[in-house]
Amino acid sequence: MASGDKKTELQKLQDRILLKNDSVYKEFHKTIKDQLGGFSDDYIAFLNRAKTERECAAAAIGMLEEEGFQPFDAAKNYKAGERVYYNNRGRALIAAVIGELPLDEGFNLCAAHIDSPRLDLKQNPVYEDYELAFLKTHYYGGIKKYQWVTIPLSIHGVVVKKDGQTVEIVVGEQEDDPVFCINDLLPHLSRKTQDTRAAKDTIKGEELNVLIGSEPVQDSEIKKKVKLNILKILHERYGITEMDLLSADLAVVPAFKARYVGFDSSMIGGYGQDDRVCAYTILRALLEQKSPQRTALCVLADKEETGSEGNTGLCSDMLLHFVTQLSRCQRAELETTLLNSRALSADVNAAMDPTFPEVMEKSNACYLAHGLVVTKFTGSGGKSGTSEASAEYMAFVRRILDSAGVPWQVGELGKVDEGGGGTVAKYLASMGMEVVDAGVALLSMHSPFEIAHTADIMAAYKGFGAFYSSI
Ligand code: MN
Ligand code: MN
Repeated sequence: MASGDKKTELQKLQDRILLKNDSVYKEFHKTIKDQLGGFSDDYIAFLNRAKTERECAAAAIGMLEEEGFQPFDAAKNYKAGERVYYNNRGRALIAAVIGELPLDEGFNLCAAHIDSPRLDLKQNPVYEDYELAFLKTHYYGGIKKYQWVTIPLSIHGVVVKKDGQTVEIVVGEQEDDPVFCINDLLPHLSRKTQDTRAAKDTIKGEELNVLIGSEPVQDSEIKKKVKLNILKILHERYGITEMDLLSADLAVVPAFKARYVGFDSSMIGGYGQDDRVCAYTILRALLEQKSPQRTALCVLADKEETGSEGNTGLCSDMLLHFVTQLSRCQRAELETTLLNSRALSADVNAAMDPTFPEVMEKSNACYLAHGLVVTKFTGSGGKSGTSEASAEYMAFVRRILDSAGVPWQVGELGKVDEGGGGTVAKYLASMGMEVVDAGVALLSMHSPFEIAHTADIMAAYKGFGAFYSSI
């Protein structure tokens, strides 16, 4: 295209009235290149120490406390600039920076989820077959099961003994730790057993069995010698018995570390970026809020990947209870507070995949390196299940992102009738506040190694910051 004053009238008109969806490399990237490295390194470190919702909540509390956030006390009256958090059972979190304006003028809320697809251990997981010991699992969230075999896996979680004592277990993350694995059939022998199955059944749920040992105890009278040896190791190391596994939250996740991707290190690959990429960027944006006009609220929810049910998910009243208590101690009316509030449901969206462009509609898909993705509606065919943001609220979000110089793009989750999915947006909308989806574009979403773009992560952080500062 011709530059500057050489542009024709029609070219100038085109610049003014046509929608652009530019790569961040055109403008934004230059101005943030110096900040990118440090921020991305910190984000990678966060991913590596927060592979479950419990670890994520603990890491977030660490970050919040370092910046002066204190446990919320419903009996107190908070002044502007005060910083509080509410820890919901160590698996979900709400944090707030009290605003200058009265609470019933509305708060600005960013909500992300901190649970990610994984394999949970069944209640009675340990068994021995053909002199090998395994763990039975039940997958959590939507996964392509074949992606979870023949990769190094780690085990994270807690075992709570009958007396209430909690034993934390993390194996497979340190360099000298052993890892675990789900073995797969060799191609030479899978022709009849596996190759004829539909792709979604290449590996079935009951075949996601984690290999954990092979060494027997030396006692000819004992039947399951390998299983006993494993339980003996667990007993010696953690003081737990097989019965204690009945009261445990143990998850199997990829053991490898998040790291930069590409010769140019422009992208980040790692487990659990759905939705910790939003959780992390929201947290970083919230920490910077010193004296916002409107109260800045952040929710890090659990259970999103299984439908947000449960008392740590956003289908529950956990947010309502917090806002009710906060309103009471700020002497604000709850209903007015909620109706005047605005939210970003911060979750990832599927980036255009050049290998499978046919599932996307290219004018409305989101792209890696094109900035924060704002998704007006989610759901599936016929907009089923979406809360959909209004034109008025979309205009508001356009205004604040554009005036803060945040690159952003629109997104939708695939072609109409191709499939679909939802986020926690509808649960926030049902409380009466305005809400729209905004997040980061990912490749290989829900896989053990999801890919995000460093500049999009930065755009999300800047976008959430701009939203928190908006009046
Ligand atoms: Mn998500
Ligand atoms: Mn998801």
